[in-house]
Amino acid sequence: MDYFLTEEQKMIQDLARKVAQEKVIPVREELDEKEEFPTEIMKVCADAGLFGVCIPEEYGGFGGGVFENCLAVEEMTKGCLGVAVSYAGSSLGAYPIMVYGSEDQKRKYLPDIATGKRLAAFGLTEANAGSDAGAIQTTAVLDGDEYVLNGTKQWITNGGEAEIYSIIVMTDKSRGPRGASAFIVEKDTPGFSFGKKEKKMGIRASATRELVFQDCRIPKENMISRPGMGFIITMKTFDKTRPGVGAHGVGLAQAALDEAVRYAREREQFGRKIISFQAVQHMLADMATSVEAARALVYAVARFVDTNPKDYSKVSGMAKVFASDVAMKVTTDAVQVFGGYGYMREYPVEKMMRDAKILQIFEGTNQIQRNVIGLKLSNEYASRRRS
Ligand SMILES: Cc1cc2nc3c(=O)[nH]c(=O)nc-3n(C[C@H](O)[C@H](O)[C@H](O)COP(=O)(O)OP(=O)(O)OC[C@H]3O[C@@H](n4cnc5c(N)ncnc54)[C@H](O)[C@@H]3O)c2cc1C
Repeated sequence: MDYFLTEEQKMIQDLARKVAQEKVIPVREELDEKEEFPTEIMKVCADAGLFGVCIPEEYGGFGGGVFENCLAVEEMTKGCLGVAVSYAGSSLGAYPIMVYGSEDQKRKYLPDIATGKRLAAFGLTEANAGSDAGAIQTTAVLDGDEYVLNGTKQWITNGGEAEIYSIIVMTDKSRGPRGASAFIVEKDTPGFSFGKKEKKMGIRASATRELVFQDCRIPKENMISRPGMGFIITMKTFDKTRPGVGAHGVGLAQAALDEAVRYAREREQFGRKIISFQAVQHMLADMATSVEAARALVYAVARFVDTNPKDYSKVSGMAKVFASDVAMKVTTDAVQVFGGYGYMREYPVEKMMRDAKILQIFEGTNQIQRNVIGLKLSNEYASRRRS
């Protein structure tokens, strides 16, 4: 379908597609097998200017929005979700600075993120605080002109590889979720180290690691916005990045569909190409319909988010839920089209199905997204009845 992209948007799409086809696909199997971070590919993305897609021009970026970011993410994901998550993890880390950072913070950090000189990451989750983010225990205590950080963040994408970390910690536990604040912490700050590197089911090229803070002192100027803004910054960041998770879903589902159609046109059973069996055709037709529906929703939501509406948590969550569920279903069906060969590591759909699962889990599980969508719906209908 034609989504009427501008010349600039097509250029971003082409750049990301070229990186995916030429640099990612040839090595994705090896990166997955060795659970290796794609350092060289990140450099290629940097040289291509892809890290600057959604960063404002005055800070060295391309000046695109959520939509342009989705286009790049979708194409990168067609190559490998693990690599694409490493790429997109940097804009996840940049968004708190872009949206709530001071002018000094933006000038100090965004140009390096935009050029890809330094990768960024976002750290919220802890061992006992996943969906219930209000339960985080990591603290920051003001001591003179510095905050002293103590605690451990878990499962942080780009952990150890990124150099700039936007983290959410408690500055006033007595205020509950209103006592959380956001900070920027740089790699190599004394007292900041990296713990366990996870071994995962999928996205194995992506680094997922603990961030450990032990009496880590950072200048008080590294706080993003004001004390108590931690969860507002988190929610606004995810509102901007969840369409990107949807774009990962679209890219992955499209790649799996392409593999399935190609295979169905080649594989013969009972003396016929399996694509001639209506059962297979119908499965492919449903897969293609879902992919296009997911793309249409993700693009529409991303474009809407870029108009800066007042509240877009509901639609942002919808894009994430719908496209990630599509990715899970379509990659599973792609394995089915491949039959036993689909279960073997020598074919890419096996990895795609393993990779897809994470999209239903991170940046807020799909259950939590449905809670948010349901609550927003209920509130909307209540306010309609009052007016
Ligand atoms: C590979 C990977 C990368 C990640 N990257 C990052 C990162 O870069 N930064 C970061 O901060 N975090 C990151 N995370 C953490 C991720 O965001 C959390 O895993 C996610 O928010 C869910 O938290 P949990 O895993 O603790 O699950 P839990 O919160 O323990 O949930 C377990 C189950 O219970 C359900 N559940 C929980 N509460 C409710 C409820 N109220 N209603 C309905 N169902 C509920 C959940 O949907 C889920 O099915 C990453 C995780 C992984 C696996």
